[in-house]
Amino acid sequence: MINFEEMGFTPGILKAIQELGFEQPMPVQEKVIPLMLGDECDIIALAQTGTGKTAAFGLPLVQATDTETNSTQALILCPTRELCMQIAGDLSDYSRYTGKLNILAVYGGASIDNQIRGLKKGAHIIVATPGRLIDLIGRRAAKLNNVSTVILDEADEMLNMGFLDSINEILEEVPKERRTLLFSATMSSEIASIARKYMNDPIEITIGTKNSSAENVSHAYYLVHAKDKYKVLKRIADFEPDIYAIVFCRTRIETQDIASKLINDGYNADALHGDLSQAQRDTVMQKFRLKNLRILVATDVAARGLDVDDLTHVINFSLPDDPEIYLHRCGRTGRAGKTGISISLVHLREKQNLQRIVRMVKKPFKAMPIPTGSEICGKQLSSWVTKLETVSTDHQEIEKLLPEIKLKLSGLDREELLKRVISLEFDRFLDDYRHGEDLIDPITEKDSSFERSDKRGSRVQYTGIPGTAY
Ligand code: AMP
Repeated sequence: MINFEEMGFTPGILKAIQELGFEQPMPVQEKVIPLMLGDECDIIALAQTGTGKTAAFGLPLVQATDTETNSTQALILCPTRELCMQIAGDLSDYSRYTGKLNILAVYGGASIDNQIRGLKKGAHIIVATPGRLIDLIGRRAAKLNNVSTVILDEADEMLNMGFLDSINEILEEVPKERRTLLFSATMSSEIASIARKYMNDPIEITIGTKNSSAENVSHAYYLVHAKDKYKVLKRIADFEPDIYAIVFCRTRIETQDIASKLINDGYNADALHGDLSQAQRDTVMQKFRLKNLRILVATDVAARGLDVDDLTHVINFSLPDDPEIYLHRCGRTGRAGKTGISISLVHLREKQNLQRIVRMVKKPFKAMPIPTGSEICGKQLSSWVTKLETVSTDHQEIEKLLPEIKLKLSGLDREELLKRVISLEFDRFLDDYRHGEDLIDPITEKDSSFERSDKRGSRVQYTGIPGTAY
């Protein structure tokens, strides 16, 4: 395994890498960096977000940029404003010790005048969404005649968002003598056709298996009645006290509806969809990044570009029709070496959809029994006990109040005291689950021929989807 020191980086870049805490190159970096620092070849890299691809192209790009001239030497195209800002931020981190490198992010939904001013000052590297760049080219603000490297990041997402014509137009504007890199999570015929048209004998690199999901993501599903989906979602959230998840819905209305229900039911949740203003979306995303929100209910389009590394779960409240969208969703967890789980709530009519997805993902999907009320209460209590054991009690304020509190509670023995604290803490769970009926999935209910021997509560897990070989 090659390390960063052996790759030929300058001391300034190596210092930045060290400060970022990157100890070893990630697989995509091991493959792409030597090619970028070496031969002038074009590269297609099939890699999901979270594999370290920004540093794979960003570190060598920063090293190769000549800061003695003012001209734009590299152009990075990506699908969303958020990703634009993310990439520009990462590049400026890499260039901390390499002279005055001007990196400019230009994207829709923000003042074009500021971006024109930025371009006039001179940008060595432009990171752009295709639509806004076309606008800037039209206004003769973006000058691309000295661009020698073009990077298409998340090319499949850009095509999904309808940017094909803009990409074609932009690639006609940059000099033919250039290096082109294309990053995509999946290989489709449209991607192959862009590669044929605009790339010169590209070297193809695949990180993980082609068209398969990230290595460290596991997949599970709950078979539910359509009318029970929301209740099952709540049970999953209640069964995972430390959940940090994106819940994907298909429509804006469904997204808002589920988020509102979760908020009303006391969950730390919010919605992210296209009916919100850009400022509202920014606020929600920031709260989620800071983990002040634990559950983000989102549409696929709105969640694009939201970059968080340590999600515990991706939850598919509704399955997408296109299996590739499923791949994108689950690529949001299991990132930067962590493990993650993608959970789908599937009702009987969505079964075929799930089968198509399983065939594409080529990994087992575990069928999960819906957690029972007593399982959820048990899990919540044990998580609370762990927190109780480790909580810091070193507060002067508490010390000051303690004598008065002791006096007031002197009539309660230890057991009574514990019971009352637990009741206060767990009122909602106990009320919801003590008297409520458990939810039965449609297969158990029908007691069909689907091989299944677990009785409620026995928590047998098995792999398979009714009617498939998986
Ligand atoms: P990306 O796929 O570019 O979105 O990167 C995913 C995450 O991995 C980002 O948070 C990077 O900061 C982080 N990362 C990139 N390269 C490395 C590395 N060599 N070691 C550790 N973390 C890294």
